[in-house]
Amino acid sequence: MRLSRIKLAGFKSFVDPTTIPLPGNRVGVVGPNGCGKSNVIDAVRWVMGESSARHLRGEAMSDVIFNGSSSRKPVGQASIEMVFDNSEGGLTGQYAHYNELAVRRTVTREGQSTYYLNGTRCRRRDITDIFLGTGLGPRSYAIIQQNTVSRLIEARPDEMRTYLEEAAGISKYKERRRETENR
Ligand code: ATP
Ligand code: MG
Repeated sequence: MRLSRIKLAGFKSFVDPTTIPLPGNRVGVVGPNGCGKSNVIDAVRWVMGESSARHLRGEAMSDVIFNGSSSRKPVGQASIEMVFDNSEGGLTGQYAHYNELAVRRTVTREGQSTYYLNGTRCRRRDITDIFLGTGLGPRSYAIIQQNTVSRLIEARPDEMRTYLEEAAGISKYKERRRETENR
């Protein structure tokens, strides 16, 4: 499974609908300070269900919505779609036979988030479930940010265990057990 494109609209500095193609295994994004490079990574974490505004460098969830500039009015909602190419496989479960998987999230100024999988409305959990155990997720080690390395070095034993369990692919089963026990 490979991330093939990201579509942004009304998200942070990306007011107009913008598609970012990711054609190869290695893509570099370059540009001057403040042009929106980190906003693209924020978008990736946000669509996978990040629920803390602080982790997206904002104070409230509605801070991800374009809030206007000298020449443009603010908009009412933000939307991100990540499209995965699954033609070489990788997805498990009910989505395994899809060639493409589109994961989408929208949020309104009232803070209402809506999630979609291939255009069909779903729960946040349906999305987090897909990424659990793959190493990719809103707070996963697949996204190495400026402070990630020091966070790993300074991790408490219980935090380190969480990273190791995700890397070993067992976090998925622990989550299922927790759900069963809570029923
Ligand atoms: P650097 O090279 O300094 O890391 P960068 O390319 O990573 O810069 P970002 O942090 O992605 O830059 O983008 C910051 C820009 O996004 C700022 O100009 C900021 O005003 C703009 N921005 C962030 N949130 C919003 C929002 N809700 N509405 C409009 N613009 C926003
Ligand atoms: Mg940056």
